[in-house]
Amino acid sequence: MKLINEIVANKDQLTAWRRDLHMHPETAFEEHRTSDFVAKTLESFGMPVHRGLAKTGVVGTLKAGKGNRAIGLRADMDALDLIELNDFGHKSKHEGKMHGCGHDGHTIMLLGAAQYLAKTKNFDGTVHFIFQPAEENLAGGKVMVDDGLFAKFPCESVFGMHNMPGIDVGKFAVRVGPMMASADMFWIKVKGVGAHGAYPHRGVDPVVIASEIVLALQTIVARNTDPLQCAVVSCCQIQAGHTTNVIPEEAMIAGTTRAFLPEVQDMIESRLKQIATGIAAAHGGSATVDYQRRYPPTINTADETEMAANAAAMVVGGDNVLRNLNPSMGAEDFAWMLREKPGSYVWIGNGAGEGSCMVHNPRYDFNDDILPIGASYWSRLVESVLPAG
Ligand SMILES: [Zn+2]
Ligand SMILES: [Zn+2]
Repeated sequence: MKLINEIVANKDQLTAWRRDLHMHPETAFEEHRTSDFVAKTLESFGMPVHRGLAKTGVVGTLKAGKGNRAIGLRADMDALDLIELNDFGHKSKHEGKMHGCGHDGHTIMLLGAAQYLAKTKNFDGTVHFIFQPAEENLAGGKVMVDDGLFAKFPCESVFGMHNMPGIDVGKFAVRVGPMMASADMFWIKVKGVGAHGAYPHRGVDPVVIASEIVLALQTIVARNTDPLQCAVVSCCQIQAGHTTNVIPEEAMIAGTTRAFLPEVQDMIESRLKQIATGIAAAHGGSATVDYQRRYPPTINTADETEMAANAAAMVVGGDNVLRNLNPSMGAEDFAWMLREKPGSYVWIGNGAGEGSCMVHNPRYDFNDDILPIGASYWSRLVESVLPAG
């Protein structure tokens, strides 16, 4: 590995910062302590800082040379509503909140790069260091875009990075095109007619209707989706009834759908509505569907993905950069920024050793050994995309 020496020399400081954030996790749009720390730290590197974009978002701007090109680097800062089950010294001090997705590490890797780049300025142009709130559930990236992120801080391209347990330390993975899926949510309310459990012919049983709907929805994937495309329809909730001898009036089904292509997303939404209302009507009941589009797919552009993979290769070697991994059916809020600007979202290996169980697990922890790797990647990306004259 060819890590940047100045960053490696700073590893103890970066680790101390990361563990402090881990001890003080804050969730969506409440990242006040975290964003204050980020803003003050960026200011201490001598760059102008804009606070309060999307409530708790922070953008630091660093210029070098005379060039007028500009790029954005993005880290997320928020934690999860999760009770931490680790018992190490830097365990969460905020009951019920935990940095269970490693956004503490993402924040510090970008700060580590900002520190190095502010000192060395071995590039030509402008870098916007974007620290966003509320990646989990509440689409803080979209709120930043809506609040004028790219109008206030124009960028020709934007880059993101997430740690990934199960990928070895010292490896990166990326791909051109869809990297992560869209995430939509749906609620189907089935209305029947209540009756005595012994006299079903006097009612319309919403439990039978809902059961048929759950099974029929799987045909959206099996029979309506091009076999060479990807889709997921998961009914994750089903609720009806209170006792053993009453056919209830209503049943409710809720779940999530995933896709990579907008046309697949459109097809899923329309088929889901047709199937639910059609099956309910066939049985003499009715169904109403609330279908909500939450996150678009995360789509990497070709040129920027090449730049990202090459920068990663400068740090860990070409053999350690997987350029064609299988995409994930998970979703990512960075998708909103990639809808506005070309860019690339990469995964950095968090390793598979102790404490590196999957993200969102109550025993997960960000691996401090990768702080210098990620900070070196960000720095080499800037130096190569905006080369000094
Ligand atoms: Zn997460
Ligand atoms: Zn995450």
